[in-house]
Amino acid sequence: MWCKRVNFIPPFDLNEQFKLIGEEVGAAALEILASGRYIGGAPVEQFEQQFAHYIGTSHAIGCNSGTDALFLALRSLDIGAGDEVITSPFTFISTAGIVSAVGAKPVFTDIDAQTFNLNLDQIEAGITPRTKAIIPVHLFGQPVNMTRLMAIAHSHNLWVIEDCAQSTGATWQDTKLGSIGHIGCFSFYPTKNLGACGDGGAATTHDATIAAKLQMLRDHGQRQRYTCEAIGVNSRLDALQAAILSIKLRYLDTWNAQRQAIADRYDAMLQPLPGIVVPQAIAGGTSVWNQYTIRLPDSGDRSSGLNQDGGLNQTGRDQVRQQLQQQGIGSMVYYPMPLHLQPVYAELGYGSGDLPVAEQVAREVLSLPMFPELSPVQQEQVVYALKDCLIQT
Ligand SMILES: *Cc1c(COP(=O)(O)O)cnc(C)c1O
Repeated sequence: MWCKRVNFIPPFDLNEQFKLIGEEVGAAALEILASGRYIGGAPVEQFEQQFAHYIGTSHAIGCNSGTDALFLALRSLDIGAGDEVITSPFTFISTAGIVSAVGAKPVFTDIDAQTFNLNLDQIEAGITPRTKAIIPVHLFGQPVNMTRLMAIAHSHNLWVIEDCAQSTGATWQDTKLGSIGHIGCFSFYPTKNLGACGDGGAATTHDATIAAKLQMLRDHGQRQRYTCEAIGVNSRLDALQAAILSIKLRYLDTWNAQRQAIADRYDAMLQPLPGIVVPQAIAGGTSVWNQYTIRLPDSGDRSSGLNQDGGLNQTGRDQVRQQLQQQGIGSMVYYPMPLHLQPVYAELGYGSGDLPVAEQVAREVLSLPMFPELSPVQQEQVVYALKDCLIQT
């Protein structure tokens, strides 16, 4: 290989961030450890208030993960057996998994290839008398057109639970995501825009009744200690994570602006290259670029990404990814298999070809290195390697 191996550029990296805030985070952590109070208390309440203020809702309820926020959201709206929930087939499994976990049925409608988000023209075809809610996913940090989505939900009397796991800080028409639907669900997994040093999540809402129910359900169904009103779960946010999140929340807008600058630089360098489709930003909103995801159009004539054994076919994208890796550039495939074709959802009766855009996009996407501290020089290395791979394949 003629290309000399430089320092490996990972898809995601927390080292530089730790250099920036390590001391502050360490001091806050020590203070919590010394306090001897690790569950609940002032650090959690403080973070919940700060986060609600940041998102622009009256309430934020901390919990154990983004998955739990979604689960608690569905439970708080009494969605369960016999109900249907419409969501995207092109997302992390958790978005649909929690629908199944509460006993309801996920219904997938196709996405838009430019934004990777739900195609709003197709949602109504998925609505039945059993439909109770829509879960729009603001994938990779990019907003769904919430004006239109809320209008659709309104006219069918449906709840809207926003999956904001990848979009903390993003807006639709100058309003933060997570404050437009009935409930917003956030993940503080370390690779998210606002990441904890472990697991964490939150649900946001303007509605005091829903907020009280979320609080009750995350604490074993208790409003008062040892009086149980519902079967809840243990899904609290640790004081340690809350204290760390309060510190990191102060940096979030700066980090998101850095991600925007990185996305702009990628756009400028990659747009002219044949064989690459850069992600389209939707007018009317701002993305926070949790991922910068390109498409490498797949000219193969496969009608689905699955081979006869139910495994994934190799695509040109997979070859490029391997070659990038050899040149010291990490990249990720979010997501190689759309949810309607997952083995666990065979029982739902979807087949390949049913949601053609999600299936095609799953064969073509490649997420390039993206984190606030990624330098222009590193970006040039990524693009240089990518060009080289495209010539080879
Ligand atoms: C990360 C993620 C989740 C789940 O969040 P966890 O905190 O990992 O449970 C849900 N939906 C999407 C779109 C995600 O990216």
